[in-house]
Amino acid sequence: MQIINLGPRELQLLESDITKTAVDVIVNAANSHLGGGGGVDGAIHRAGGPEIMHELDTIRQRIGRCPAGSAVVTGAGKLPAQFVFHAVGPIYRDGQSGEAAQLSSCYRTCLDMAADRRLASISFPSISTGAYRFPFEEATRIALETVSQWLTLHNGTVHTVKLVQFDASDHRVYCNLAYKMQFSMASKASS
Ligand code: ADP
Repeated sequence: MQIINLGPRELQLLESDITKTAVDVIVNAANSHLGGGGGVDGAIHRAGGPEIMHELDTIRQRIGRCPAGSAVVTGAGKLPAQFVFHAVGPIYRDGQSGEAAQLSSCYRTCLDMAADRRLASISFPSISTGAYRFPFEEATRIALETVSQWLTLHNGTVHTVKLVQFDASDHRVYCNLAYKMQFSMASKASS
């Protein structure tokens, strides 16, 4: 795990299965109909149990679809967290259709929601980089920029943000880009 210290706050780059991260909030990469899918969404529903989908059914009845860039909240079922924030990432088309702004909005919205609930820790997967085909390096830059700026600007309760990569090569991309962006980093054994 690599740690980027931003004043009293910590941004962690972590190779892991997000369902195993013990935090206040686990962020899901959901789709706009909140209906469940593969990838990280499938893993979260499998590990969390059926009550997460039951809550989403109720939310869907109330709001219909959830637009890209926004998120809804449920409990976390059996996951080691209090909440799951289901963020809807953009489907990547040509890079000219507002995808970058929508992806950045996913991270910012979830951080705002965590702050509103006075929570301390949150983990994010690499939203939109699987089935939604966002180019990985560009998505990584957006994640690092958005989260680091947010942590620098906000003084609230959120003090630990974990950006979780599912495999070693994705983790290397995050670490290399963070290095190029001149964050000062320290290694730590994963916990
Ligand atoms: P999207 O539809 O937003 O692209 P995906 O779930 O297809 O969402 O992929 C998003 C990212 O989540 C990918 O980089 C994928 O490797 C990663 N991923 C898949 N399963 C997990 C998991 N259990 N923990 C963390 N990341 C995961």
